Amino acid sequence: MNINSNYLNLQDSYLFSTIAKKVVEFTQKNPGKKLIKMGIGDVTLPLAPVVVDAIKKAADEMGVQSSFKGYGPEQGYAFLRDAIKKYYQRKDVQLESDEIFISDGAKSDLGNILDIFGLDNTVLIPDPVYPVYVDTNIMAGRKVLFIDANESNGFLPLPDETIKCDIIYICSPNNPTGAVYSKSDLKKWVDYALKNDAVILFDAAYECFIKSEELPNSIYEIDGAKDCAIEFCSFSKTAGFTGTRCGYTVVPKSLKRQDTMLNKLWLRRQTTKFNGVPYIVQRAAEAVFSQEGQIQIKNNLQYYSENAKIISDTMDKKGIWYTGGKHSPYIWLKCPNNMKSWEFFDFLLNNIAVVGTPGAGFGKNGEGYFRLTSFGNRENTLEAMNRFSSLF
Ligand code: PLP
Repeated sequence: MNINSNYLNLQDSYLFSTIAKKVVEFTQKNPGKKLIKMGIGDVTLPLAPVVVDAIKKAADEMGVQSSFKGYGPEQGYAFLRDAIKKYYQRKDVQLESDEIFISDGAKSDLGNILDIFGLDNTVLIPDPVYPVYVDTNIMAGRKVLFIDANESNGFLPLPDETIKCDIIYICSPNNPTGAVYSKSDLKKWVDYALKNDAVILFDAAYECFIKSEELPNSIYEIDGAKDCAIEFCSFSKTAGFTGTRCGYTVVPKSLKRQDTMLNKLWLRRQTTKFNGVPYIVQRAAEAVFSQEGQIQIKNNLQYYSENAKIISDTMDKKGIWYTGGKHSPYIWLKCPNNMKSWEFFDFLLNNIAVVGTPGAGFGKNGEGYFRLTSFGNRENTLEAMNRFSSLF
């Protein structure tokens, strides 16, 4: 019996455990001091009332013989896929319902999608990055190349023709940097993928934070993307579903490699290894797209966006370089006075009792940077930024 020894090549992630340990030590040394956490990537506002109503209604249906549901379609119920299809039409993206696959969240699909790709593919991942892209490929034993995201490219790297790869990860708006690709820059990636026969895995988990009509919410707003890209999205940040669990993946039928439709491979993969998302959760997700649902979730998103503005205004006032904050819940700032990420973490914790996330935890290019998030409450965000202002 052999284990998958690729797992031994994974780097242990000490990021959040080290943060937790430092926080415990600080609170033990400073009892009574109010600590403000601005490192969390999880939402804090409750589900929208229409979503809660839909959950209750669906639960009632499950308790009645005539409306009880057993196994549902692995790809998701038509009512939800149709609602998503309509959602894409607002940006003139036309999808067919069977190009949309409902999942229990983007994280699972981002990992699972790798089942349909050969192990000999080379993978290109921006650094810094959401660690799931790297670890899932290391688990499978694929070769991973990194492309530098840094201050000089605004943390939005563009294709390098000298690098050859088969699978490309793009996350926009980005976690951790909050940076967003313009249509013209995303087009460069689409052109590169088409030319090199590569496939882009586009993570749109934060698309709901985009406020400008000009910026792409979906890679399918770019000509040619349906021939080279798979898109992942989620209700987690859009509608506070981090604990409710629902997402979706789009695999266009025109996306073919080696004369094979990737849509067909993904369908086969899902019908073999996945038994669908709970009916109750899919009804909850459907409610997000109702007129009232859209208004209610926008109120929550607006709340986070205003927090983000409070943070980015503070950075502007202090002349601190940053990306994100405008179309993203994340503010990615350059640590003042050339401090290293962890040095800055300790500095903020010890001087103003504010906790963020050291950029170094997201890759080598994250060193010297720091991530603050807008998912906290207003009072704490204001207080944290007041304390921050007094420090610099
Ligand atoms: N993609 C990115 C970039 C994320 O930051 C996250 C969660 O933080 C996810 C995907 C996962 O989302 P989900 O909750 O849908 O699994």
